[in-house]
Amino acid sequence: MTEGKSNHLIASSRNYFGGCALTRMTEHREDRVWLAERLGDPTTRIIVLQDAQHLFDSNNQPVFLSPLDFSSPPLDLHETIFLSEEEGVAYFALDLSTRSNDGANALHRLGEFKDVKLLAPFLPAQDAALLAYARALVHWHQTHRFCGACGAPAEPRSGGHMRQCLSATCGRQHFPRTDPAIIVLVTRGEYALLARSPHFRPKVLSTLAGFVEPGETLEAAVKREVFEETGVHVYHVEYHSSQPWPFPSSLMIGFYAKTDTTELHVNAQEIEEARWLTRAELRAAVASGELLLPSLASISYRLIREWLEAESE
Ligand SMILES: [Zn+2]
Repeated sequence: MTEGKSNHLIASSRNYFGGCALTRMTEHREDRVWLAERLGDPTTRIIVLQDAQHLFDSNNQPVFLSPLDFSSPPLDLHETIFLSEEEGVAYFALDLSTRSNDGANALHRLGEFKDVKLLAPFLPAQDAALLAYARALVHWHQTHRFCGACGAPAEPRSGGHMRQCLSATCGRQHFPRTDPAIIVLVTRGEYALLARSPHFRPKVLSTLAGFVEPGETLEAAVKREVFEETGVHVYHVEYHSSQPWPFPSSLMIGFYAKTDTTELHVNAQEIEEARWLTRAELRAAVASGELLLPSLASISYRLIREWLEAESE
């Protein structure tokens, strides 16, 4: 077995939001007695969300609540999502929008609701992973209240990891979905291909990315997206690592790809600008403030940084 760069378990564990393998205790999701006991334990921690944001204290660390903080009315299994148990402490997620309005206002004295995407680089790996996991599941519940097959209401089951259609003639079970998206740094000899989307902050250049389509391999998605966005043909695709990206429901799957195409044909619908840069050119542009790299929390930053730090090919 080889270690280091070729060990994808290690590589992915270094990505924000995926930096900790949580103990999900999937064997207990159907055990309502066990779940109720954990939810009744004062040491259990509740992760609350409001408008896709988490509660953070004045030091920008997440606020974990106790079930005792929800006495009127007490927490109910139906409204919570069991996430995991770490070192004997159970974690549940709670979407405050599903509760009567007693909760949210009172919680504001404990901190502010903020976007975990912005604070991830400053969080312990386990906290970042738990918050991302909670956000993904809360979003899934918010957007899957009705059965996609028959339109009847669907209710949470299995500790919040399934929704059951309530129609007697349908009764389908629905499970959380994750949308796979490839993200790729394309290189040509000493050069890397960086691009900017109209959605980026000013001056930011990043890697190329796009959603995987039905019936498509990850590698084919890399080849298609790179060609669609820049007109570049890649001939070599190499997996790097993956990263949960619950904004709202993606799994980013990172790659390096090689090409010998020089000319760029930028798709103006998707890309504002694309260019080839050497390591020295990129370092100089970032140092001078002409360009910015993507968020530290993103796998795109990691793909670019590791390319910058690597020896020239
Ligand atoms: Zn149904």
